Amino acid sequence: MSDCLFCKIVAGEIPAEKLYEDDDTLAFWDIAPQAPKHFLVIPKKHIVGPSDLIKEDDALAGKLFRIAAKVAAEQDIDSFRVVVNDGAEAGQVVFHMHMHILGGRPMNWPPG
Ligand code: 5GP
Ligand code: ZN
Repeated sequence: MSDCLFCKIVAGEIPAEKLYEDDDTLAFWDIAPQAPKHFLVIPKKHIVGPSDLIKEDDALAGKLFRIAAKVAAEQDIDSFRVVVNDGAEAGQVVFHMHMHILGGRPMNWPPG
């Protein structure tokens, strides 16, 4: 997707503060953190969101959780919230699937 912001980060065309990278996933700090520790985990492949997942993505989708927990541990985040916005009304602004990992402060429930 040539006009996708996160595809451009994957391609190295836009800089990001990377925390982890492998063949099919990337984690980097959010540019506008909503908590003291806030990073994103994305598939390198362009997937719009959970609603766009196909069966062949099952392993990749599960892997995002494992990478999230691994990076959180590396960053000394021992308690964190995972958020995935799917669709504009849910708050999705970047239409390349991403997992928000938020930590470093108490979280409220229900979320806004
Ligand atoms: P969404 O609202 O789509 O779930 O979340 C998009 C997230 O991407 C937001 O938290 C926003 O701060 C983050 N973001 C938007 N543009 C950039 C960017 O250029 N670099 C980084 N690192 N994060 C970005
Ligand atoms: Zn993309």
